[in-house]
Amino acid sequence: MNAQRRFRHGDPVGPLARTPEQWKAWALTIGQRPFRGTQIFQWLHARQQLDPDGMTDVPKAVRALLKTELEQHVPTLERVHEAADGTRKLVLRLTDHSAVESVLIPMDAEDKGEDDTELEDEQDQACAQKQRVTECVSTQAGCAMGCVFCASGHPGLLRHLTPDEIIAQVLIGRALLKPSQRLSNIVLMGMGEPLHNYDATVHAIQLMNCQEGLALSSRRITISTVGLVPQIDQLGKDFQGRIGLAISLHAADDAVRTRLLPINRRYPLQMLMQALRRYPLPPRRRLTIEIALIDGVNDSEQMARSLVALLRGIPVKINLIPLNPVPHTALRPPSEQRVEAFQEVLTRSGLSCFIRRRRGDDISAACGQLAGHPTSLIRQEPSPPRS
Ligand code: SF4
Repeated sequence: MNAQRRFRHGDPVGPLARTPEQWKAWALTIGQRPFRGTQIFQWLHARQQLDPDGMTDVPKAVRALLKTELEQHVPTLERVHEAADGTRKLVLRLTDHSAVESVLIPMDAEDKGEDDTELEDEQDQACAQKQRVTECVSTQAGCAMGCVFCASGHPGLLRHLTPDEIIAQVLIGRALLKPSQRLSNIVLMGMGEPLHNYDATVHAIQLMNCQEGLALSSRRITISTVGLVPQIDQLGKDFQGRIGLAISLHAADDAVRTRLLPINRRYPLQMLMQALRRYPLPPRRRLTIEIALIDGVNDSEQMARSLVALLRGIPVKINLIPLNPVPHTALRPPSEQRVEAFQEVLTRSGLSCFIRRRRGDDISAACGQLAGHPTSLIRQEPSPPRS
């Protein structure tokens, strides 16, 4: 497959990425009534029944047709690695044999204060007792952005994922949840730059929103980007700012940022800050600013003060992530004291700032470590039934 070929609005999609309307039209093409299409959409998206044999109220002949179609488009779950903290990394094999990874991250009570949707959550008493799980989803195999500290970007862009391959990660991930868990949030911050594969990402988000399916509200979905300015503007227009936006900022100084993120040459900080100011955030929502702190590179108190100045007037919360080491660089995280000193400068200036605990780093599932190949196997579970 041509790595540069990207899904565009209007392109044909595979079965997992069909909308309810497209399923109804599909049903007509095989001589069935439209409700059959709705039924299949609900089996796939509301019940994560990806094996047609389990669609008990669908006629056998239709199931046989579906089986062939799904086999051509749906990735298979190859492995599940579980970390000591309960984080699970899923390795999915795509139909062209490339691999992508997504991560199921259980949220603890201590994570609650960092979540702007917490208040709305508490209104949902029926589910409040269950442990919330965030799934981190990939949008590309490899990545073209070349951020120096990232394993996903190290091999370059292998290819863009299709909408089927993006939504499949969510359906497979949700099917793996324990009865005591519920999928509460999706973050598009796995392998790849989601805004570089814009139409496929947006199509998958629209499917996640579908009331007959996963019914995940836009406010529970966050896109993480290195700062592709035109696509940030487009996303703001397409979803009226309801999709959460996390910016991998990492430095408040163009020279340091360009060294870490080559994309900063094209969209330098002032241009990016203007795009963030234009993003039509709903009331009480904030943008997330991600700073991977690297020893001796961007961890000085002076950098923290520059950050305060750069973000003045923009509603943000800041996540400080001591760098997760990856094999291809000598970059390392700062000491705990330096991380805390950096945080102190930000909080003293009135900014909300959290130090992110590393999640799943013992299975290479932490930020920047996803590489599309199995590493550091902690525990291997058999593939679950596709249902
Ligand atoms: S940090 Fe994100 S955008 Fe940068 S190379 Fe890695 S996957 Fe790509």
